[in-house]
Amino acid sequence: MYSDLETIKAQHDLRSIARSELGNPRTSTARYDVYRCPFHNEHHGYSLQVWADGFKCYGAKCGVTGDVITWHEMRYHMSKAEAIRFLRGDQIPGVKSKRRPAPAPARPVFLSEPPPAEWQRFARAVVDFADEQLWETAPGEKALGYLNARGIHDHTIQAAQLGYIPARDDRERTYGRVLFDDWRKPDGNPVRIACGIVIPHFADDHLWALRVRRAVGDPKYMGVAGGSKALYWSDTIQPGLPVLVVEGEFDALIAWQCAADLVSPVAIASASNADVNPYWFPKLMAAPRILARFDADAAGGKYLPKLAALSSCVVPCQVPAGKDVNEFYVMSEFRRDPIRCWLMEVS
Ligand SMILES: [Zn+2]
Repeated sequence: MYSDLETIKAQHDLRSIARSELGNPRTSTARYDVYRCPFHNEHHGYSLQVWADGFKCYGAKCGVTGDVITWHEMRYHMSKAEAIRFLRGDQIPGVKSKRRPAPAPARPVFLSEPPPAEWQRFARAVVDFADEQLWETAPGEKALGYLNARGIHDHTIQAAQLGYIPARDDRERTYGRVLFDDWRKPDGNPVRIACGIVIPHFADDHLWALRVRRAVGDPKYMGVAGGSKALYWSDTIQPGLPVLVVEGEFDALIAWQCAADLVSPVAIASASNADVNPYWFPKLMAAPRILARFDADAAGGKYLPKLAALSSCVVPCQVPAGKDVNEFYVMSEFRRDPIRCWLMEVS
């Protein structure tokens, strides 16, 4: 058991985990990165230091410290056993994967129209495959545990038809899987699908895109080549309710899970999608109010003015704590009321 734990710790570079979860650090040295401490919801200073093998908050009243296992216990309300299981399922060392050549990112061309029927047919087959993997296999169970640990309930997972594509080896973990040999890109190469949690973008009776949230690697989210740009979760827009526009799919799903009667949440779903696809204008413009929750970083900062140019009822807003809806929900111990109070306040 002891050596098992040491192996798990050695295989996970906490610095890259923290970067993927907290974004770019405030400062960075050869040995550690510095952040605002998410554990005491720090607003002013930068008390958290993160090393490859541990973290510590130097805030006077906080002082949390630990290793990669503690990190997961504290951030995702996992027991120690759950954190170990979670990390054991994710065995590719972050450091090692950094040395591999980065996979060429699939760059879907975002058109205003849904993808061709053939693309959608294959993509639906991917959704079915991933659905089966998520609910009926052991690696899927782990992925389900991850989604639940982020506060996404089973019924929401089913409603969103989230799925899972396991990597069978390191190669697939890095380069993705070819599920259908006859599904080809315009250049003749087979379509590869990144391994991880599959998020289908259904809207208006079409499947517009598939995005995969990878367990490891950069970029964390990858699209499947050939998809178009949907307004994620826009099928649930209710006439008369304010629309809440957020960046991530999971944020939209959590807002929907907690407050579908208060707002209609949608996600732009990719930080690089700074353009508002005109196809979706009518859906957005019909809303009495558009609440927009974006990061102040480049992508969110670009999207907001474009949205504001379309409608005079855009209200920028931020979550009261944490970096996004999902993190706020986790910090609120998965209670609906803090999310609902926040949304009532801003709308
Ligand atoms: Zn702290």
